Formats: sequence, C-alpha cells, structure tokens
Amino acid sequence: MTPHVLVVEDEGTLAVALKYNLEKEGYRVTIAEDGEEALIAAEEGQPDLVLLDWMLPKVAGIEVCRRLRARADHRNVPIVMLTARGEEAERIRGLDTGADDYVVKPFAMQELLARIRAVMRRIRPGLAENKMQCGEISVDRVAYRVRRAGREVHLGPTEFRLLDYMMQYPGRVFSREQLLDAVWGSDVYVEARTVDVHIGRLRKALNVGEEADPIRTVRSAGYALDTEN
Ligand code: CA
Repeated sequence: MTPHVLVVEDEGTLAVALKYNLEKEGYRVTIAEDGEEALIAAEEGQPDLVLLDWMLPKVAGIEVCRRLRARADHRNVPIVMLTARGEEAERIRGLDTGADDYVVKPFAMQELLARIRAVMRRIRPGLAENKMQCGEISVDRVAYRVRRAGREVHLGPTEFRLLDYMMQYPGRVFSREQLLDAVWGSDVYVEARTVDVHIGRLRKALNVGEEADPIRTVRSAGYALDTEN
C-alpha cells in the first residue's frame, strides 16, 4: 500500500518540487493550493501524512491543522508544518494545535524528506519503509518480494497487499470488513468471504511443512498476524 501524502502549498513551484521528490520516495501525492481545498482533499483522500504550509490563502495553515485535529478521521494523521524563518512563536502555536513536526523555509529537500520519514516511522512503523520485517517474514515493497526465514514466498497481488497491510499492525485483529476496505478499497463490492479465500492462499504460501502459522484466526472477529512467528 503506497502511503498517501497531502501537500498543502500555494507556491506552485515548491508544490511541484515536493510532489516530484515525494513520488520518487515512493509516496502517492495530492496537492492542495489553499486551506479550503486542503480540508476537502483530506476528507476525500484520507492522507497518511499532511505537509502543511503556514501561510495559505482562504484558510490559514494553523486553522487547517486545528480543524483536521477536530475530525475523528484525522485526529491521528501526522502533520508536518512548513513555516517561514523567524516565526518561532507561530511554530510553538502550530505544535500546540497538534502539528507533529515543523520545517523552516527555505529548507533542503533531503532534510524535509528525512523528517517526513521520521514522522512516518514514529506514527506508523510499517508504512515508511521499503522493507518490513515481522518475525521470520520479510517484505520488500520495491522488489515486490516476500521471504520467510530466507525462503522465497510467491504471492499473488491481493495476497501481497493483504500481508503488507497486516504487517503494518502486528498482533492487531482485523475484521473481514476492515481488510476489505484496506486491501480492496471501500468503493469496491466484494463479499466478506473473499477475504477468507485470500487468507487461505496467503497461509498456504507462507506455511510450508512444520512451520507455525503466523496468521491467527479469531473466531467471529477476523484475522491477525502475529510477530512471534
Ligand atoms: Ca504559502
């Protein structure tokens, strides 16, 4: 699953440069050019991180931050604010309003990308990395490769996305509906039983011989991926 970054920036050239560099890092990027657009885009796109300029037309950055934090859906979305030099007081206000980090303009692109990676890692450990490890299982999102204890595991695209998603939250129990929303998308109609079929395939591919099954079936609740295996 590609992490989605919402870039809220009214300076066109900077917005384009941010999009280009973030896409190169493997993020999916949406641009909003003012505060109002940002609030709509956040509602529609469910970003995994918001990069938010302080000085914005229509609705100011700090107000966007405050309103996002007031919404149940966006209470926990990481927000990195971009502020101009010398706005120390505003920066502190930004952090008070619920921003997770801030970067002072003008900034070096590499520094900003490093800060974004750090925020992502802190908030959703599995999301920011190209490689994930969970017990014996490793996933390489760039090479599209899965291994268990060094052995190559061949997965179809749906099983790959399923494993990738569950590995982001080791031990957590997901209902079939939650897995459908996350892996197939909430706008696609798929029967809940489809999840069982793909979990079955994933298990078959992961477990060979005497290996313990890392996927736990929780009766009437759903599935979890355990870390100990
Ligand atoms: Ca601006």
